[in-house]
Amino acid sequence: MEDWQLELRQAITTADQLAAHFAVEVDALRPVIERYPLSITPHYLSLIEQPGDPIWRQCVPDPAELIDDGAPLDPLSEEEHAPLPGIIHRYPDRALLLVSGSCGVYCRFCTRKRQVGTRAMSYTFGELDNAIAYIARTPAIKDVILSGGDPLLLPDLFLKQLLDKLRRIEHVEIIRLATRLPVTLPSRITGRLCTLLQNYPPLYLLTHFNHPRELNAATSAACDQLAAAGVVLGNQTVLLKGVNDDPGVLAELFRGLLKIRVKPYYLHHVDLARGVGHFRTPLETGISILRTLRGTLSGLAIPHYVVDLPGGKGKLPITPEAYERSADGRIRLLTPDGDTLCFAEDARLCRDGQIFHHKAHEKSA
Ligand SMILES: *Cc1c(COP(=O)(O)O)cnc(C)c1O
Repeated sequence: MEDWQLELRQAITTADQLAAHFAVEVDALRPVIERYPLSITPHYLSLIEQPGDPIWRQCVPDPAELIDDGAPLDPLSEEEHAPLPGIIHRYPDRALLLVSGSCGVYCRFCTRKRQVGTRAMSYTFGELDNAIAYIARTPAIKDVILSGGDPLLLPDLFLKQLLDKLRRIEHVEIIRLATRLPVTLPSRITGRLCTLLQNYPPLYLLTHFNHPRELNAATSAACDQLAAAGVVLGNQTVLLKGVNDDPGVLAELFRGLLKIRVKPYYLHHVDLARGVGHFRTPLETGISILRTLRGTLSGLAIPHYVVDLPGGKGKLPITPEAYERSADGRIRLLTPDGDTLCFAEDARLCRDGQIFHHKAHEKSA
């Protein structure tokens, strides 16, 4: 067994283990963990300085997750865009292949929290092969994004077989790995893994740093090793209330990422998924942060701020042209296909007068 696999075995997965590390009341967390699994790797745990801090909020369950705020379970209609189990095909030229059902750390704000770490996201080898066959017979797909769950939790040998199969498909031009392990389990980025990944260019790795405290010797070394192996690195941050909804915090994060050769790619507005409402900021917060960053940071350090539109309509970059404010204070988003979605300050979302999503749970950070 490799070191990272041993470390993963030592991850905190129960309320009692959490109570052994922190003097906090955990009984209220038990039903949350039953619904949405818990996992905190030793590395990520070591970054927590005190309960409630930005690292804690990302990984420790909160009773607010059980509040039914009326948000849909599958806000991006991913299940409608799944031609087969294990694949999400929403844009003609790109497809997501869900190759792993689990993660090193279960992010409390996860869009797929209804499935990740549960049986709903365990696909059989046969299903995975069928999904790969779908890609092989769909020449429009040029870009395959390995996701899940976390694809780097697959053992090297399995990952190699998967990459071999995808590379054999002529129309697949690029492969992306969407993984948070460089942040949550940096020991996974071994020399052996990097040697393996080196063989499949052009390979992009999109990782997920949300806070400058996640930048440290271990995570920098992991990114450095990947970059040295010719892997192109990008980062997706989620804008999270009480974690990073502050221009100073994000400026430090984005500058720090460039220093370790990771390009900030997307800043995601929290999806309208159920159980994540306590993390959602008003759209205005993101817009105002971006405006501040524009004046202080290089364009290289600034990601696209995107809303993933409900119904699987795709990601909409929020720029001044993408929205207008109406008289009642709502923000109207103009989608690429000519639709209008209105987004209220309290994160209610409506379309053609119909409210899709009811009042987000308002809890101060
Ligand atoms: C985000 C996403 C992609 C990739 O989009 P890019 O803008 O190319 O990064 C592809 N498919 C699905 C379903 C997605 O959600």
